[in-house]
Amino acid sequence: MPPVRTRIAPSPTGDPHLGTAYIALFNRCFAHRHGGDFILRIEDTDRERSSEQSERKILHALRWLGLDWDEGPGIDGGKGPYRQSERSGIYSDHIRVLLEKSLAFPCFCDEKRLADLRAEQMRQKQQPGYDGHCLGLAADEVAKRLQTGERHVIRLKVPREGECVFTDLLRGEIRIQWSQVDMPVLIKSDGLPTYHFANVVDDHLMEISHVIRGEEWISSVPKHVLLYESFGWDKPVFCHMPLLRNPDKSKLSKRKNPTSIGYYQAMGYLPEALVNYLGTMGWSMPGGEEKFCLAEMEAQFDLERVSLGGPIFDREKFDWLNGRYLREDLDDAEFAKRFADWAFRPDLIEKITPLLRLRVNRFSETAALAGYFLQGELKISADDFAHKRLDPEACRRILQFSLWTLESLEDWNRDAIEACFQQLAGKMDYKIRDFLFPLFVAVSGNPVSLSVFDSISVLGLDLTRSRLRNAMDTLGGISGKQQKKLEKEFQTLSS
Ligand code: GLU
Repeated sequence: MPPVRTRIAPSPTGDPHLGTAYIALFNRCFAHRHGGDFILRIEDTDRERSSEQSERKILHALRWLGLDWDEGPGIDGGKGPYRQSERSGIYSDHIRVLLEKSLAFPCFCDEKRLADLRAEQMRQKQQPGYDGHCLGLAADEVAKRLQTGERHVIRLKVPREGECVFTDLLRGEIRIQWSQVDMPVLIKSDGLPTYHFANVVDDHLMEISHVIRGEEWISSVPKHVLLYESFGWDKPVFCHMPLLRNPDKSKLSKRKNPTSIGYYQAMGYLPEALVNYLGTMGWSMPGGEEKFCLAEMEAQFDLERVSLGGPIFDREKFDWLNGRYLREDLDDAEFAKRFADWAFRPDLIEKITPLLRLRVNRFSETAALAGYFLQGELKISADDFAHKRLDPEACRRILQFSLWTLESLEDWNRDAIEACFQQLAGKMDYKIRDFLFPLFVAVSGNPVSLSVFDSISVLGLDLTRSRLRNAMDTLGGISGKQQKKLEKEFQTLSS
């Protein structure tokens, strides 16, 4: 049997997600249980959405959890580079092979043609997808158009008949009709590879033996299988893990549960407790223990025992488990050290120092001013929002619109937050002072506090979201019907 090599391949397009840590944990345990290696690869081919900041946060989050990698950025195992943006030459060499074998083809269809095609397919209640138009072009026409440098993409030829049959380690045989599989773009018009192409080429070149990832990727497997076959490569073992769910069984989403790892760090959970809790998602120790450490999980790990019933990420249960760690695993000295390490995180202190330094005369004034950075949900009441010109409904509206605005903010920094709030206040026809009032209370628990823009930028989106939601609930909440109405209003306002 070839050596076991597993990987996670996050795209650095946002805050590190609990799902990434969950999949990393299972990949790492599986590799180490079998004496193999766990690899980290950064899939940053989407240049517009990827950022270095997001990559840094992902690396930091994985290290914080102790889910470090055997090969990947910073640890060369001879199969690098481990960042797809540094592997362009590899993808161009490989696409040439497929073009020469006529297994892939240039497609010149512009966006308008594809949009019209899609609209027509929808109208006729057909499966939307590429219709193979450019497959019918004569070879000399293709050559001519390529020579003139006409904008095009490269697509994979996908059979229109028959079915793709593959095996998933947890689910057994899966069959998907080829007619359900769109002809995917492999190389975009900017010359960069898409996820499907880069992912398969890299999994092969990095000798990944087992692809263990979330179940949302099952529908991509036929495209990947076809690529492996087109190149004549052996396929890895596929294993699709069940998705994490909210207590109401819906897919874990930030609407209902904070999903960024940074949130759990900022809330003062212990990384070993989070790893332990993620280890109980769809898996259990043979002896049924609920509390176990990473080394114990690695020693006992067994993929076959993953259960497919959607594992529920339950905050209350996690709170209970984290509490057990604090009480059972730390003595006073260790508790004090871990507490101080958390409270005086250098990145937090660095950000709040400039806010405090010019405002206080004594250090003893700082706790009252900046204590809310170290708190979870704030204890606030509807009375805290009493204001001459804003009733509770107006406050809720400001909070909800602000949240939606923050959620679509690309660059999370103080100035961008200020600019978008200034703009929103103008559109909602409020003086900025009035507009900011409910935000001050929601974020800091006080109508006057350190700058609300700085505070939000330091707290991050997940913590801010949970505070704004808490404030809206305190103000009577927003019903489903009101929510729809607000969504419409917000759309009109933003257009
Ligand atoms: N880049 C993909 C992601 O963001 C990787 C999926 C896979 O593991 O194949 O999750």
